[in-house]
Amino acid sequence: MFCNQCGNELNPGVSFCPKCGHPVNAASSNGAAAGGANQFTVTFTRENQWFAINPAIKIVVDDRDEYHVDNGKSIRVPMAEGIHNVVFKCGIRNKVIDLTVQRDLELHLKWNRITGSLMVN
Ligand SMILES: [Zn+2]
Repeated sequence: MFCNQCGNELNPGVSFCPKCGHPVNAASSNGAAAGGANQFTVTFTRENQWFAINPAIKIVVDDRDEYHVDNGKSIRVPMAEGIHNVVFKCGIRNKVIDLTVQRDLELHLKWNRITGSLMVN
């Protein structure tokens, strides 16, 4: 890919052009060349489990994007190739994983009825 300010050739993944300092815009109209990162879809599927109180699980990706998944539902989240910090929050419970995305993924969420912890696999 190339800097759209000065035309300097850029290494994939850089945030700024090393020659002129122009920010490399991931949403540039260069399409496939933008950012050099492939986009994938991560599907979070939550098992249908009965509990007296069963709120949505909040999913926070890279401390920025927030999603909610209800009991028995699934959501699809676009993610760039790479390692993402994913936090699952439900009430006082938190589970943090580092998710390596190199292809489309499907993760299954399920509460462990014994320990009360969230299982992700
Ligand atoms: Zn430049």
